Amino acid sequence: MGILDKIEAAGVVGCGGAGFPTCKKLQGGMEYLIVNGAECEPLLRTDRFLMLNEAPRLVRTIAALGAEVGAAHCVIAVKRHYREEIAALRQAIEAACAAIAIHELESFYPAGDEVTVVYEVTGRVVPPAGLPISVGAVVDNVATIYAISQAMEDIPFTHKYLTVTGEVRRPVILRVPVGTRYRDCLELAGGVLRESCSVVTGGPMMGRPMSMEETENAVVTKTTSGILVLPPEGPYARGGGMDLTGMFRRARAACIQCSLCSQLCPRHMLGHPLEPHRIMRKAAVSGDIRELLNDADIQRAQLCCECGVCETYACPMGLQPRQINRAIKAELAAAGIRCRIPSDAAWEASACRVYRKAPSDRIAARAGVWKYSGYEIRELLEGAPERVEIPVKMHIGAPAVPVVAPGDRVSAGQLIARVPEEALGAPVHASIGGRVESVGRRIVIIGE
Ligand code: SF4
Ligand code: SF4
Repeated sequence: MGILDKIEAAGVVGCGGAGFPTCKKLQGGMEYLIVNGAECEPLLRTDRFLMLNEAPRLVRTIAALGAEVGAAHCVIAVKRHYREEIAALRQAIEAACAAIAIHELESFYPAGDEVTVVYEVTGRVVPPAGLPISVGAVVDNVATIYAISQAMEDIPFTHKYLTVTGEVRRPVILRVPVGTRYRDCLELAGGVLRESCSVVTGGPMMGRPMSMEETENAVVTKTTSGILVLPPEGPYARGGGMDLTGMFRRARAACIQCSLCSQLCPRHMLGHPLEPHRIMRKAAVSGDIRELLNDADIQRAQLCCECGVCETYACPMGLQPRQINRAIKAELAAAGIRCRIPSDAAWEASACRVYRKAPSDRIAARAGVWKYSGYEIRELLEGAPERVEIPVKMHIGAPAVPVVAPGDRVSAGQLIARVPEEALGAPVHASIGGRVESVGRRIVIIGE
């Protein structure tokens, strides 16, 4: 079996984003294989942990994968100030005599955005709404490379590394079976320090704030990168659940059309025709998104990567361009409208881009998490829960189809849900051995 077949059989999906099946991404040839080690969200430490502690394994995997897919260049992109991680990687590269370059990034947000990292490494702009492969690049993050390394040893993707930090007794890196409940993760981190708090899944900039009820029901998936426990009020709470009408009302009353949201937008700086200030102007005047779906500026909301720079860092009035873009994107998708992009245009980054990158420290401060950003998190704890609830959909594409039934006994690593015929997806494996309690959108296994 070739490496790509092994990756497919192991159910590896991108750990850093929406969970695109990795084997599909690696098909079709590429010039650059870029390994994204920027981990630019404040507070997350998982990829840094892996680079520091698993450098030889990562390097071996990148070299083998690069040879398999015929990449002319294998590059690890990592922030310049991750000195220890860079030293560990360089040592491993030297020991393996591997043809892998390290590209040192400045410390800015969102350095780890796929389109941004491709530009930083290759100098090529991925066209608006395009994929990195259109300029000859494929990007996988460090945690995905780790999962690939296991797939190469025929070990399915059943365990996840994640950061648990913030208002917990013991900020920590966890390695837990997929399907572990968040509440078990929080217990492993010594418990929550405050009675009232906000839990964010992912990073404070792009992660999703959850209610306590949601947290009770949440489980670790293949794409979970972190669990943050934060004070109840902060920018990460995304306006405390303000509805769209409220956001429009505030935009109408307070948007001063300073255009800072556009000037600092990382996608706009790469030459993409996305201008959030124009979207804000039109949305504020109309107040009803559905009336605006044929407007070219509004349609360009589809080019937004939802990094949050505009609302957390740029806007002096505390408005929510990112959330308005997200709502517009949902309406456009429901109406089946795609933003029209000229296919023959040449895309060029702005000459000002170099001066307009958002420094990581400032982002941590504006995101309201500065207090936690200096935590040294080096400890690894292994979780061994008695019960897991494994979702059948943890990836882009169709949900996996269960091949087990309640009462079945399964061993760790056994296939429990397969990809439907002819569909995009990823298989799912038992992350612990035990008895299947129930099968539905989640397969619940009780350990024995
Ligand atoms: S969230 Fe804001 S800054 Fe980020 S890409 Fe979208 S419009 Fe630009
Ligand atoms: S930065 Fe804020 S105030 Fe300025 S144009 Fe954008 S949304 Fe309006």
